[in-house]
Amino acid sequence: MYGRCASYHGDSIAAAYLADEMKRLGVLPLQVNYFQTYTYNCYSLEGDMSLKINGVELEPYTQYRVYPTARHATPNKLNKASWKKQLKNGTWLIGVSQLDTYSPWVVDKERPDPICIEILETALPKKVKKVVADIPIQYRANYLTRNVVGYVPGAVDTMIVFTAHYDHCGIMGDKVLFPGAHDNASGTAAVMDIARIVSQKQPYYTMVFMLFSGEECGLRGSKYAAENPLIDFNKVKLLCNIDMFCGGDEGLMVFNANSTETKPYFEQLKAINEESRAALNLRPRDNSPNSDHFWFSNYCPSIFILTMGQPYGGYHDPDDTCEGCGLAHYNDYLRMILQLAGIEQ
Ligand SMILES: [Zn+2]
Repeated sequence: MYGRCASYHGDSIAAAYLADEMKRLGVLPLQVNYFQTYTYNCYSLEGDMSLKINGVELEPYTQYRVYPTARHATPNKLNKASWKKQLKNGTWLIGVSQLDTYSPWVVDKERPDPICIEILETALPKKVKKVVADIPIQYRANYLTRNVVGYVPGAVDTMIVFTAHYDHCGIMGDKVLFPGAHDNASGTAAVMDIARIVSQKQPYYTMVFMLFSGEECGLRGSKYAAENPLIDFNKVKLLCNIDMFCGGDEGLMVFNANSTETKPYFEQLKAINEESRAALNLRPRDNSPNSDHFWFSNYCPSIFILTMGQPYGGYHDPDDTCEGCGLAHYNDYLRMILQLAGIEQ
């Protein structure tokens, strides 16, 4: 699915797949269909990509990375660069000792910034004589994207909401794909697994499932969902966000575990763990705008659960694959979350 971002509408293909899965499981749509549509301005990098220095082709991702924004070429970054050159069209080429983590970028203005290409120092020749950069960059104004939302009615209308982002970093030219197995196919799969379990037997609480796009572009989907609510947040007992759920050899981390509204849930999780001894450690953290729970924390008790420790393939990396992901703790951790949500198994 092209890394589930704007490239070749990979996010939309993933959204259609998830909506079909919800339908197959018997999860009901919150509106006429499963989609909550919104837009943002972004870039995509579809097509053949090439960077030649003195006639030598460099390898994308491992030797250079394209950041479609000038935010990677700030005066501070330019000062630190071991080598820099600006092309006639404004593109910055920067020599660095370590390439920055790749993320897709959105922009809140009508015209795109000049782009920035970070090149690993070791891939640069002593003297740069000729640069030929062929970077396929597309600016997408008002790119249409969608959250996928559904619910399973319970015995009461008090709700438990499970959220995860299904999007990832897309592609960087046609040869570099970011699969995003750990981040966050794993959390999306966990939420779908919960949907599968609760759709088999009526749960006590009404269970809501929200799968967001746009997380990697700055928590866009969840922000839209929080500001344009499809449910009454006053009736939400707990919102549980899952983001990066593979590995977990060191246990679980819970963000926003220390607020008055959420602390009891963390304590409950601790008690569950004391009984099951599933997680080696259970670490509470303060709230942070680091995943999709953040926007909802103003309206209802919202926590964010992620695994700590290996194994997983990589982070924002072509190596973040299914094969790299260990799922040894998956069932135990999922059971803890089901118990926290009062779901009988
Ligand atoms: Zn990410």
